[in-house]
Amino acid sequence: GYRNHNGKKIAHTTMSNLISNPKYKGYYVGNKVKVVDMFTKKQKFLPPEEWVMFKDETGEIVPAIVSEEIWDAANAVLKKRSEDVKARQGVCNHANLLTGKLWCTECGQPYYRRESEDKRGRKNSKWICSGKIKNGADSCRSFAIYESEIKPLLFEVFRDTAADADAMVEEYIRMYNELTQHGSLRKKIEQQNNIIDQANRKKNKLLQLAADDSITNADFK
Ligand SMILES: [Zn+2]
Repeated sequence: GYRNHNGKKIAHTTMSNLISNPKYKGYYVGNKVKVVDMFTKKQKFLPPEEWVMFKDETGEIVPAIVSEEIWDAANAVLKKRSEDVKARQGVCNHANLLTGKLWCTECGQPYYRRESEDKRGRKNSKWICSGKIKNGADSCRSFAIYESEIKPLLFEVFRDTAADADAMVEEYIRMYNELTQHGSLRKKIEQQNNIIDQANRKKNKLLQLAADDSITNADFK
């Protein structure tokens, strides 16, 4: 991209605001904002459809710095690019599929991608420990991983994991249904409470009898 007077890269929004501003093709533009609150003077930006625009034919109030044709062409490109960027969101860039996801188990550094070719000249990139790249081959015992080798492995892992996750969800739903079906869980709790009650009653009775000396320790032997 281009750089501003600070030498920093011009942000995409700045660039697109510049390109899409009709004043550069000599248009007066009004009604871009509207006061929505009379007391706080709070404003909101209006959509371009509501802007009031007219061409400054005199070229004195809003002098054009580009022709209308160039402006239109630039905006067509901008629109296309913005749509492309939006369409790419959430889609993994093929070349950087594994960037930031591979780490060296020997020295803990991230793996970097290096372009390489196999004997027949086909592209087969490899991933190398960045610690090794920075500090030399002797610094780390890790080895390079070829993309053509790791990709099928990863696909297999993802496929199996997805199947496992589905099976697990199914199993949990089955277990949950079993527990709640026809209030069977509640019934089981009631049954167990009854057994506890009965046991407590028996215990009390035995304690009573023991206190009355009606039964002695010998009875328990
Ligand atoms: Zn390493």
